Amino acid sequence: MYRILYWRRLRGAVLIAALTAVSADGAADAARERTQMLEEIRRSVRESADYTGREELRETTMAAMAAVPREAFVPAGQKPMANLNRPLPIGQGQTISQPLIVALMTDLLDPQPGDVVLEVGTGSGYQAAVLAQLVKQVYTVEIIPELAARARAAIASLGYDNITVRTGDGYAGWPQHAPFDGIIVTAAPEEIPPPLVEQLKTGGKLVIPLGPVHGFQQLVLVEKRDDGTLQRREVLPVAFVPLTRQRD
Ligand code: SAH
Repeated sequence: MYRILYWRRLRGAVLIAALTAVSADGAADAARERTQMLEEIRRSVRESADYTGREELRETTMAAMAAVPREAFVPAGQKPMANLNRPLPIGQGQTISQPLIVALMTDLLDPQPGDVVLEVGTGSGYQAAVLAQLVKQVYTVEIIPELAARARAAIASLGYDNITVRTGDGYAGWPQHAPFDGIIVTAAPEEIPPPLVEQLKTGGKLVIPLGPVHGFQQLVLVEKRDDGTLQRREVLPVAFVPLTRQRD
């Protein structure tokens, strides 16, 4: 009797030890892959410097990219690819953006620790998590309820308490929490949605892909000047999913 109990306990301990070893290895692999991903981002940033005017991104941006486990934001089948510098499918016909683009958009926004920012197009929640590393509060809007729910779960599993996800049409922004220090749009409209300009603080930045639904768009950095006018700079050709409108 004693021996059986002992063996059961031992077997349990061996099993737990084996599982811990596997997950520790998995975590080490993911960390190694993420380091490689950051190297690739640095290289791609240098390669696209002619377009973007940036040889490198801020260290704060890179630290935020290093801190967020992208594998927590992709479906199970995509996890082995999670730390590659590639966009990946997240279901519902949508994608998690390429890490290079997430890093670049974050850097263009120039987020400050006290900022309140809006994201339109939560998708997986990954971009929101990267921003949450850098600012006080992130409000993010997703039009597909299933994706909003999944993003909420991923965000909660990592313990973020400064991200709020809402299901809805982000074309209208989020007036209750405006004005925003910065706004990032991760689905492409043809023109800048006027409510987003209204909800941007003077001196604030809007980072947005603009262009036709099918084909390439331009990633545009928009700054709201003191007199309320907009200064626009095209940064890089990109391919985003279209910004859709409220479905009835
Ligand atoms: N930022 C995301 C990538 C988003 S892909 C990430 O880090 O994973 C673009 C997302 O925008 C999709 O999930 C799509 O459903 C959403 N979207 C499209 N039109 C929208 C709208 N009008 N309002 C809010 N979200 C929208």
